[in-house]
Amino acid sequence: MKPKVYFIETTTGESLTSLAAKTQKLFDSLKFSSTVKRADLVGVKTTFGEKNNVGYLKPPIVRAAVDKVRSAGAKPFVVETNTLYIGQRTNAVNHLLHANNHGFTVETVGAPIIIADGLMGENDYMMPLDLPGGLSKMAYIAGAAKAAQGLVVLTHVTGHMLTGMGATLKNIGMGLASRGGKLAMHSGIVPQIIEPDCTACGICAEFCSPKAITIKDYAIIDAKQCIGCGECLAVCPFEAVKIDWGEDTENVQKKIAEYCVAILKGKESKSVFFNFIIHVTEQCDCMDKAYDAAFEDIGIVASRDPVAVEKATIDLIRESIGEDFFQKSWPEIDYTIQLDHAERIGLGSTEYELVDVSGRGAGTGKKRAAARK
Ligand code: SF4
Ligand code: SF4
Repeated sequence: MKPKVYFIETTTGESLTSLAAKTQKLFDSLKFSSTVKRADLVGVKTTFGEKNNVGYLKPPIVRAAVDKVRSAGAKPFVVETNTLYIGQRTNAVNHLLHANNHGFTVETVGAPIIIADGLMGENDYMMPLDLPGGLSKMAYIAGAAKAAQGLVVLTHVTGHMLTGMGATLKNIGMGLASRGGKLAMHSGIVPQIIEPDCTACGICAEFCSPKAITIKDYAIIDAKQCIGCGECLAVCPFEAVKIDWGEDTENVQKKIAEYCVAILKGKESKSVFFNFIIHVTEQCDCMDKAYDAAFEDIGIVASRDPVAVEKATIDLIRESIGEDFFQKSWPEIDYTIQLDHAERIGLGSTEYELVDVSGRGAGTGKKRAAARK
């Protein structure tokens, strides 16, 4: 039987109160309360967005999920991990202060906020992997993500500079890995500098957390120090940084899918996945910049299958705006690699049954305005 993906339509500018209510309606569709046992510790995974970014899911939406987990008898906590790159969320202290600045507190979300990989990303659990066609022999999972008995994964859908699509799989696989895991997934990515285009402005060096870049006549990257975070690519104003999109993105996408298997192991029946197709942007929420939405809001999809929820998201966007947003945004990246690999290693199914619970009859909604950019 194909997994069900529940869809509820939303409109651009809809209030947070309404979005929170729709999130809760999807919990009911998923029959979440029959999933968890009393006092199960369930992590509500979200991200607090980088400074100046506005795309992240706001506290009332997280609160809606927390309340549903609690009313099901489980014990919710909000869970996130530190970032690999230098920013507001590199260590747990700055991360929690930053979350507070973006309005995420125990009072607003209704549960403790736990940075799952510890103060500096050092707290991890090593899980051996032996997946068909797998690249990772060991997964380094954030300690609290491993220990959680269930997960509610709340994801703001965006494009992504390394994976093309940034949604549920990336939120789990990269977002609940420890720093060691993030490093392992990025290993092999070393950007190249296009020397004639480089003005030696030094911006990339400022953003390079391991200080792998020195500036002479042009930027020089020390491959031994580079952690493959891709920040230099994102911040260079002259497009003088390039990545081998073929092999590099293929490997990172496959490893993300493999980490999803590791992280969800033992909690498959107690985990649910939500993609918010709202204020979708080409760049992800890790960028410290506010981006305009690429098209009008579409809705929220939720499923017990993390692959099905991704595929439904892709299909709904394509149907709504009449084109493949992720492919158009990142033409050098084949973002479907993550889905195909995830399905091959048994994470879920790209075939699904869409159930529209918008309360306006069957179908997936009206045509949206084409991408604005
Ligand atoms: S940001 Fe771009 S142009 Fe500036 S030094 Fe780095 S690679 Fe060169
Ligand atoms: S050189 Fe670029 S990809 Fe490598 S660590 Fe520095 S910012 Fe990240």
